[in-house]
Amino acid sequence: MPSDALLSVRDLSVDFDGVPALSGLSFDVRPGEVLALVGESGAGKSVTARALLGMCPRGAAVSGSVLLRGTPVTAADRGRRIALVPQDALSALSPVLPVDGQLALAVRSVQGLSRRDALARAREALAEVGIPAARVSAYPHELSGGMRQRAVIAMATVNRPELVVADEPTTALDPGTRDKVLGVLGDRCAAAGASLVLVTHDLGAVGAHADRMVVLYAGRPAEYGPVDRILRRPLAPYTEALLACLPTAGTPRKSRLPTLPGRPPAPGALGAGCAFAPRCRYATVRCHTERPAARSVDGREVACHLDHLESV
Ligand code: SF4
Repeated sequence: MPSDALLSVRDLSVDFDGVPALSGLSFDVRPGEVLALVGESGAGKSVTARALLGMCPRGAAVSGSVLLRGTPVTAADRGRRIALVPQDALSALSPVLPVDGQLALAVRSVQGLSRRDALARAREALAEVGIPAARVSAYPHELSGGMRQRAVIAMATVNRPELVVADEPTTALDPGTRDKVLGVLGDRCAAAGASLVLVTHDLGAVGAHADRMVVLYAGRPAEYGPVDRILRRPLAPYTEALLACLPTAGTPRKSRLPTLPGRPPAPGALGAGCAFAPRCRYATVRCHTERPAARSVDGREVACHLDHLESV
């Protein structure tokens, strides 16, 4: 584990009944850093998020290591040292308690404050994420989607964890609200001194908010490194194909954006070769028979057989 890593993930794999959902994932997160996990649906992003928190469902076989400051993450760490911002805030919050009361319970359980002081701290935390004083005692169903997501950000950061894992935290929100909520998430993590693992399929959000990124395809890492380097010049063909689907400054409004042809393989249908081979325009015979190992190229890790990567 590098001496500057807060979180160190090595060879993390998750199987469900022998079917691999994630395979051979390694990365580090440094203190204060934002690391994005990106890829299409089914790439293994949410499975990774759950595995980081030790929250994989029963029946999952997890191997490899997840170390937070050198020690495995335990159930006692959740909500204290490592916290989750889920995709669905409504199901994460209790429907029968006002949000300030729920936050106060979380504060009391970790910080041991009196009931009154915990409620005051909870309301302060809700104000810090932009919930007006008149709304802090509302029930979750009385808040808008953006407000609920702000409330779970307050819940995740109020006890000053070392790491926050946000699993597609803005998927259900409209684009304007999405940017604001991501800004709040980044600000609150920074204020709490927490690193952030941001699970997303939104490459625009990655460019705006993340320092480094892991690109996943069919449960396998395709490319891992600094965001500016990867977005400027992707080396893995899958990353290149994802970026080609993004609008550019010259894209006319209302024009149809290109999409990646084909679909990712089903988790149980991976062959011996590169998982991306059936969709890759550079695929060779070798790609269909041999899984590419990750190699270091131009300051990042790339899993691809392409010969020209040697000379990058
Ligand atoms: S290993 Fe082959 S199929 Fe896979 S991404 Fe590289 S060139 Fe494409």
